[in-house]
Amino acid sequence: MIINHGVRGSIPNPSYQTLGYGGNTPCVEFKTKKYQLIFDCGSGFSKVKLSDKHQIIIFISHFHHDHIQGLAFNSYDSGFNKKIILTSAHSNKKDTYKILSDYYDNPYFPVNFIKLINKFDFLEFKDVVSKFNDLEISSIELNHPGKSSGYSIVSDQIKFCYLLDNEYEDSQENELVKFCDNSDTVIWDGMYLESELSSKKGWGHSSVEQGIDFANKINVKNFLISHHSPLRQDKEIKKIQGNIINKKIKFASENEVINF
Ligand SMILES: [Zn+2]
Ligand SMILES: [Zn+2]
Repeated sequence: MIINHGVRGSIPNPSYQTLGYGGNTPCVEFKTKKYQLIFDCGSGFSKVKLSDKHQIIIFISHFHHDHIQGLAFNSYDSGFNKKIILTSAHSNKKDTYKILSDYYDNPYFPVNFIKLINKFDFLEFKDVVSKFNDLEISSIELNHPGKSSGYSIVSDQIKFCYLLDNEYEDSQENELVKFCDNSDTVIWDGMYLESELSSKKGWGHSSVEQGIDFANKINVKNFLISHHSPLRQDKEIKKIQGNIINKKIKFASENEVINF
C-alpha cells in the first residue's frame, strides 16, 4: 500500500482551510511484503507507524527543511531488530550524516538527535540499490535549486515514482516519461498553478497543469499531484479537481491509502 502522510510544500499549514487535503509537509510510505519504504521526512513523518516486521529504508530527495523537519518527531516506539536504513541519491552517506546531524543539534535543536537515537544506518545510495536487489531502485536528478533526487522503486511488481521537488522543463520530458511509464503511482510536484509560474521561475517547482499534461503521456494508475502550496485552500483544490477529465489524476490527500 501507499500512504500519503504529508502533501503540503514548504511549510506545514494546519489551518481550517487546508485540513481537508492536509497540512503536513512531504512524506510518503510505500509498504510491500518485506519493506517499509519512506520517501522524505517532512512533518508527515511524525505519523508513520514504523514497522518491526519490515526492513525500513528512508530515501531523502534533498535537504530543504520541508523534507527533513519531521525526522526527529516520530515516536520510534517499536523495538526494531534492524536499524533503519537512511540514504539519498542526492548526497553521499558522510554528507547526509553531517547535514542531518548539524540540523538536529545546537543551535537548531536541543540535543544531537542522530547520535542520541542511534537508530539509523547511513548507506550510500548505490549500496542500497545493489544490496536490496529484489527491489528495482532508480533515481533521477530533478531540476531544483541545489538539485533534488526523484526515485522509482519496483517492489512485488508494483512501480512507485516520487518526483518532489522539480521545476519541469520540456527538455525533461523524454527522460521523465521513460522513468515514470507503467507505474502504479506517481507523485508529482504541483505546487503552483500555470498562472503563478511566471513569478516563481527558479523556485524549483512545477504546476498542476504541467502535471495534467505529463500524466496524459504515461501509463499510470494513480497520478497524484502533491507538494501543494501552503496557501492553496481546500476549496480551490476541489474546484480544480472537478475540472480534471482524466480520473487517474488526483490531488494527493493526507492519510489517503492506496491499496494494490
Ligand atoms: Zn519541498
Ligand atoms: Zn526543495
